[in-house]
This record gives sequence, C-alpha cells and structure tokens, in this order.
Amino acid sequence: MSEQTELESGSSGFVFFLYRIKWAVSRLLFLVLLFFVAISGGLVLYILGPIFTYALFRDFNHLRYRHYFWPMSAMLWKGAKKWLTDKAYREAFVIPMTSPPMHSPDPSRVKLSEEWTGDIDNCGGCVNCCEQLGCPLLDKESMLCPCYGSFYWSYFSCGRYPVSNAHARYYDCKKWVVIEDPR
Ligand code: SF4
Ligand code: SF4
Repeated sequence: MSEQTELESGSSGFVFFLYRIKWAVSRLLFLVLLFFVAISGGLVLYILGPIFTYALFRDFNHLRYRHYFWPMSAMLWKGAKKWLTDKAYREAFVIPMTSPPMHSPDPSRVKLSEEWTGDIDNCGGCVNCCEQLGCPLLDKESMLCPCYGSFYWSYFSCGRYPVSNAHARYYDCKKWVVIEDPR
C-alpha cells in the first residue's frame, strides 16, 4: 500500500506518528544538504549531487544538472537574506517539519478565486510564484517546472502552495483564495 493510500484509508495513530518522524527526518536531512550547497557555492554537489538530483528530478545522474549547481546556491543565499530581512517572506513560509508531503493545496483550506477563469488542475501558463521566487529551476522555454511531483516539490512549498493567505499574497496568486489559515 502506498504512503498516500495508507494515509487516506485512515492509518492508526502510531503509523501516522511514524510517518511524521519520516517526514521530519527527510526534511531535516535535505535542509542540511541545502546548507552545504549554499556554503560551498554548489561545489558539494559534485560529490553529493546524486542525492540532490534524485530529490529534485528523480534522476541520480547529477552531472546532467550541473548547470543548476551554482544558481541553486545563489538562490539559497538570496532566500536566506530575504528570510532575515523580510517579515512578509518569513510569514509566507510556514511548513511544519512533520506535515505530510502534498501535491496540491489542502482543498479544505482553499477555493478558486472568482477572477480565475482557468482550469483547477493547472495554472494556465501563470508562473508568477516561480518567477517572483527567482527559481532557477523554472524552464524558461516551456514555462514548466522540471521537478514537478518530486521529493523537493512535494515536501516543501511548491506542491502545497498556498498554505496561508500570507503565502498567496506574497506571490500575488490570482488562482487561489485561502479560506482557512493554519493555526
Ligand atoms: S514549482 Fe518548480 S519552478 Fe516553480 S518555484 Fe517550485 S521548483 Fe521552482
Ligand atoms: S501564482 Fe498562483 S496561479 Fe500563478 S503559478 Fe503560482 S499558484 Fe499558479
């Protein structure tokens, strides 16, 4: 049984507790890796790259993605600076370490905006949040995310965006309205 199916079928409290530990440890390890990516200017990825590229692209062939190594490091430094200097940015990112991976925003907390005329399943060509974040992963030709559905995408902000009104406002999302902020 897959993790998602097991959760949807109502796992016991103990199983859910074990999942929470798994999610928190996975996030923590990845954040440690990001720390080393940032301080090494991406050079650490010539050694640990297969873990990194599997987490992002589901591909262990890290050298295929070496053009991302330095831009990812630069983005991490920019993100750290924003985190320290921009209160709105800090408030926008509230993801508990023990929260489950998600591939879409929580349907009990969001609704489509009245001004949104597109589909519910895609963003109709909008890449506002990716561009404002300055994400180096966004494919500028296809305007698609190359790590859609990956570990990075589902464990961190992208898959669950927006998690709060502050999160939606920060990237000026025209699609989602958050009806219930996380407590
Ligand atoms: S959805 Fe993809 S391209 Fe957009 S910010 Fe996330 S990782 Fe970057
Ligand atoms: S800002 Fe909203 S509509 Fe635009 S890409 Fe992000 S989630 Fe989709």
